[in-house]
Amino acid sequence: MLDWLIVGGGIHGVHIAARLIGQANVDIEQIRIIDPNQKLLQRWKDCTSTTGMQYLRSPSVHNLDIDPWALLDKAVEEENQGIPLFSPPYDRPSLEFFNKHCDEIIAKYQIDELHIQAKAESCTLESEFVMVEIDNGQQIGAKNVVFAMGAGDQPTWPEWSKIDSEKIHHIFSDNFDALPNLKESVSVIGGGISAGQVALRLAEEGHEVTLVTRHELREHQFDSDPGWLGPMYMDGYSKIADVNKRRKLITKARHKGSMSPDVIESLNQQIARGNISWHIDDVDELIEDNEQLIIKLESGEKIIADRILLATGFEGNRPGGELITQLIQSASLPCAKCGYPIVDQTLCWHPGIYVSGPLAELELGPVSRNISGARRAADRIVSSLIGNMAELY
Ligand SMILES: Cc1cc2nc3c(=O)[nH]c(=O)nc-3n(C[C@H](O)[C@H](O)[C@H](O)COP(=O)(O)OP(=O)(O)OC[C@H]3O[C@@H](n4cnc5c(N)ncnc54)[C@H](O)[C@@H]3O)c2cc1C
Repeated sequence: MLDWLIVGGGIHGVHIAARLIGQANVDIEQIRIIDPNQKLLQRWKDCTSTTGMQYLRSPSVHNLDIDPWALLDKAVEEENQGIPLFSPPYDRPSLEFFNKHCDEIIAKYQIDELHIQAKAESCTLESEFVMVEIDNGQQIGAKNVVFAMGAGDQPTWPEWSKIDSEKIHHIFSDNFDALPNLKESVSVIGGGISAGQVALRLAEEGHEVTLVTRHELREHQFDSDPGWLGPMYMDGYSKIADVNKRRKLITKARHKGSMSPDVIESLNQQIARGNISWHIDDVDELIEDNEQLIIKLESGEKIIADRILLATGFEGNRPGGELITQLIQSASLPCAKCGYPIVDQTLCWHPGIYVSGPLAELELGPVSRNISGARRAADRIVSSLIGNMAELY
């Protein structure tokens, strides 16, 4: 019997583990993380490395250590030979530096020793504890379970893309390994920052790149206004009792399909040099013919490609699949019309059940899925244990 079991060993699960151990003094013998990947943070590392991004979109204070300033402090000690550790504005850390720091946090709190490599399949509430069954049939009991499974398991495949072809891939599919080696013509589909970054990396690697976006490039430094990180917007948001109104606000606040100014600038340069051809259009139909893909656009134009890489993001459905659906049904857990959990201020859904990431967004607002959301989730969960809930957003 554990005190804490965290389902999901991504950015959120790892940060919450660090805070429980380092701040709430939970004994490491009493905490475990279930995640099916070989290593913790694997989904994060795979997705970010595929895009070719060099810097995070978020600032340095959004990191996995307990102290938000830890990444800046570490930079003072670091002897750096490669690219600068931070990029303006807002001291956005390089991906390499951020990942190195994540690995140090994992080592510092011995979090990799807590990792059980498995998938949680079902969860039942007993009178004094929660029982989680994993994919080898083993059962693990814990007084508290945190669901931190992210939204990364649901990449979006547009209807037209669902043809039987080995030449079309989603960049965020599990075990994605479809970046071209030899020179090819590659069409990247998507209008968000990841589409822009993949198009740029492919162009830099010498491929013939076409980018198809459904809209003009939308410039936003962050994926929601920084006012959502603190009292400016969160004070009002927290006072809204109607969770369906909260959902509307979240949808409105998110800059979906947007790119940061630096990515737009680089794209514009590559487009001007002829290294990326850009279409603002939607795909009507996809046909595979003679080893090539023919992409018919709604405008009537056609693109011929050796390969299509979808950078169409993730589905907005509630994460957790059957596990969460069955738990809701068996324990009559409260949900909003959108299907997402209605939780209290401490992110508690039911005594012994906590949520983070997308599952916590009706409480934490638009930043919930990001690194800052992981920090906010940990603030709430840990503060409820150590008895200090003042000024939390
Ligand atoms: C390319 C990219 C770049 C991003 N850049 C930034 C950025 O710069 N700044 C920022 O703030 N945010 C960024 N984000 C958004 C967000 O921070 C990341 O998506 C982050 O990985 C979310 O963390 P997570 O822990 O919720 O999900 P994940 O990192 O996806 O981890 C969830 C884990 O849960 C596991 N899991 C799922 N179901 C189960 C189950 N049933 N049992 C056990 N384990 C399960 C998954 O396998 C996975 O390992 C970015 C996202 C992407 C895709």
